Amino acid sequence: MSDYEHILVGVDLTEESKLVAARAVALANAFEARLSCAHVIEPLSLAYGGDIPMDLTTIQEQIQETAKVHLQEFSAQMGIAEENQHLIFGRPETEIDAIAADIGADLIVVGSHGRHGLALILGSTANGVLHGAPCDVLAVRVGLKELS
Ligand code: AMP
Repeated sequence: MSDYEHILVGVDLTEESKLVAARAVALANAFEARLSCAHVIEPLSLAYGGDIPMDLTTIQEQIQETAKVHLQEFSAQMGIAEENQHLIFGRPETEIDAIAADIGADLIVVGSHGRHGLALILGSTANGVLHGAPCDVLAVRVGLKELS
């Protein structure tokens, strides 16, 4: 089996995503692979549909600006170069798979909470990514304390 050459890590920019990204960095170093990261902004119109009768453009722009800065700071900490940072709009699971295909990633790394109950029935981002992935997927266990 050949080594991974291009690893994509999905980051939601929470504290937990540092754990997930650290695993991706370690793998990229081990395989001497390129490392890219993606943060997906879910458009407010997608999340709330027509439920809120107001123009969300300004709020959406502020969210985008904040996310851009956070992604740059996060990537700098992880040593991920600017050309390997992707800020995208849409549904995280769909967009992570799409960008992986676009950039030719051969491994996607995401966090997984190993949820149960209702969250399991509704599915998680990791599940969604796995189902549409164009390549291997590594689900890094996070938030293990929640399981007990
Ligand atoms: P979740 O199932 O939503 O708790 O997310 C699990 C993992 O999916 C996170 O650790 C990230 O790797 C990835 N993920 C979730 N949301 C996003 C997002 N908005 N952008 C990029 N990756 C995400």
